[in-house]
Amino acid sequence: MLEISHVKKHFGKQEVLKDVTLKVNKGDVIVILGPSGSGKTTFLRSLTFLEKADAGVMVFGDKQLDIHKAKQKDIAWVRKHTAFVFQNYNLFANKTALQNVMLGLTVGRGMAKEEAEAIARKALKEVGLADRADYYPSQLSGGQQQRVGIARAMAVKPDVIFFDEPTSALDPELVGGVLSVMKKLAADGVTMVVVTHEMKFAREAATRVVFMDGGVIVEEGSPEEIFTHPKEARTRQFLRRIL
Ligand code: ATP
Repeated sequence: MLEISHVKKHFGKQEVLKDVTLKVNKGDVIVILGPSGSGKTTFLRSLTFLEKADAGVMVFGDKQLDIHKAKQKDIAWVRKHTAFVFQNYNLFANKTALQNVMLGLTVGRGMAKEEAEAIARKALKEVGLADRADYYPSQLSGGQQQRVGIARAMAVKPDVIFFDEPTSALDPELVGGVLSVMKKLAADGVTMVVVTHEMKFAREAATRVVFMDGGVIVEEGSPEEIFTHPKEARTRQFLRRIL
């Protein structure tokens, strides 16, 4: 469904992505792991044009594009078919939870207000926030804000949702609620690419685990292969440090 090949990106003299290729099939839950600074976030941001890659090819559905030279209309097309959940939620502070979720539908998709509201309320209900629809972000906990972020992503029914460390800004007691919403999405067959340090989520929900280090994918496989029988020394070393 989505294939991204040979993505390269540098910042100044630092080569952050050396040559990264990833294939995402429908229904995949891909968890990207790796040490801090390995390029995980930059990779996700490059796929969604939040960062401009130096090179790379994207095949998405029946479209093929050079991600370095992508035109505004291609970028808009990719954005229309994907959604992004940010580490720090990125909600509009002056909009309620409901309005935040609706915006992607009305402004993003040109949907009529009544229809958008019905879909947004349903999405908020699915993340357990039906009773917080009229709250502003400042009146919600970090975990609730992130669940609004996830409802916003789900509501547009994208082909794939990208999650960039969705729980790393949260207090530990709020992480579980967000992960259980993500697990529910995974169980529902939503295609997801998740950068996270949550190993339990990776073990339990991933269909494929990708280990990145130094701007390359060192190894990828099933959770069982990566966690129990990692092939590469670098993967073993990383897992020893964090498990
Ligand atoms: P973490 O787990 O800590 O979030 P990561 O694997 O997601 O790390 P990236 O955030 O992709 O890593 O960063 C990779 C490298 O690129 C880091 O060395 C970082 O300092 C550098 N980098 C990222 N964004 C920029 C930027 N806008 N300008 C300069 N350097 C950057």
